Amino acid sequence: MTAQYDVAVVGLGAMGSAALAFLAARGVKVIGIDAYHPAHTLGSSHGDSRLIRLGYFEDPSYVPLLQRAYRNWRALEARLRADVLEITGVLQIGAPDSKIVSGTRASCAMHGLAHEVLDRDETARRFPVFQLDRDDIAVLDPQGGYLRPETAVLGYLKLAAEDGAVLHFGERVTAIEHDDAGVTIRSAGGTYRSRKVIVATGSWIAELLPELRGHAVPIRQVVAWYQPKDGFVTQPGRMPCFLRDEGDEGSYFGFPAIGVDGVKVGRHAHFREPIDPNQPNPPVNDKDTALLDGFIGKRLPAAAGVRANATTCRYTMLPSEDFLLDIAPSSANVVIASPCSGHGFKFTSVVGEILADLALDGGSELPIGAFSFDAMRRYLDRRAG
Ligand SMILES: Cc1cc2nc3c(=O)[nH]c(=O)nc-3n(C[C@H](O)[C@H](O)[C@H](O)COP(=O)(O)OP(=O)(O)OC[C@H]3O[C@@H](n4cnc5c(N)ncnc54)[C@H](O)[C@@H]3O)c2cc1C
Repeated sequence: MTAQYDVAVVGLGAMGSAALAFLAARGVKVIGIDAYHPAHTLGSSHGDSRLIRLGYFEDPSYVPLLQRAYRNWRALEARLRADVLEITGVLQIGAPDSKIVSGTRASCAMHGLAHEVLDRDETARRFPVFQLDRDDIAVLDPQGGYLRPETAVLGYLKLAAEDGAVLHFGERVTAIEHDDAGVTIRSAGGTYRSRKVIVATGSWIAELLPELRGHAVPIRQVVAWYQPKDGFVTQPGRMPCFLRDEGDEGSYFGFPAIGVDGVKVGRHAHFREPIDPNQPNPPVNDKDTALLDGFIGKRLPAAAGVRANATTCRYTMLPSEDFLLDIAPSSANVVIASPCSGHGFKFTSVVGEILADLALDGGSELPIGAFSFDAMRRYLDRRAG
């Protein structure tokens, strides 16, 4: 007999694990299915650390969701009795009119968020690891910091299981068929019926959701860790996490020496190389390491000792580089968990809540209007001219 659920969650990385936990906490009969075993290194939610910040330069409309995300992260920690969110401050550095600096200040001003604006000398005095150009400034977000992605994913799955969710790992979903009453989910391991399904398959999302083909594009991302030359100025507490706007060259991000590998840096979206999600990520090459070695040597010379490690990961980009959190146009029983364009992890704790709302209530009271299918279509129309 085919097993019957209220909601099925396909994909148990960041977004799917959180959605599953919120659904199970609401007492519904729920199953989560993942092709691999958590917290694996084949998707987008591994690598020790993810930035979180409140003064969001990308758009001030994200701030209310971030405020909710902070609250939800603390609730996760309280239930798990584990540390997931560490506050180090986030320093956002660049020319005064650069996108990151001016956008962060605008976001802070609009929402009345605490922040400090530092000139080059003040930055050097307080955070000596950073090398600023003469006219650069830095905006300190005192509420910024980093999240531990593996702890978060495993933690949400643990809570989901405690609250009665059924978990299937190592089982790839091959088809989702929908009808008026619900969905049929097929995998090599079985067939399941559910009233609703949340598709949270990250870089693989277009395989199960035809409406995202050509719109959700997985790209290669590379990060590297360096043993600091000066182990004092790179300690958390002495060194905040950071974003650095390099104008036409894009932006870089990084973390203090959290673990044994040292200071971690990456360039947002790296070289924007599309990848096949079903192939292993192309390995780290000399061009990748030359880029990151060059950046750290120029901008954080005290951190630029031996490169201890470098690895690949993947972003899944949407056309506007925003999110997509909506019911699928093809079926009211299918909910789309956003491929988050390389900046979604910090929102995991609120996205999980939103996905549960969409599946159970057909909508959410949280402000997600900008992340609808219609918003994506409008963006595409504008871009087409
Ligand atoms: C290097 C790097 C740095 C980043 N830095 C930041 C940061 O500092 N701050 C920030 O906010 N965000 C950051 N991001 C982005 C953030 O990590 C991602 O947006 C987020 O992790 C995506 O989560 P996800 O659940 O969508 O995907 P994933 O975690 O990849 O989960 C998708 C899951 O679906 C499963 N799956 C796929 N297909 C199937 C199938 N057919 N059947 C069953 N299961 C399936 C996969 O096995 C996987 O477990 C970064 C990303 C990378 C790669």
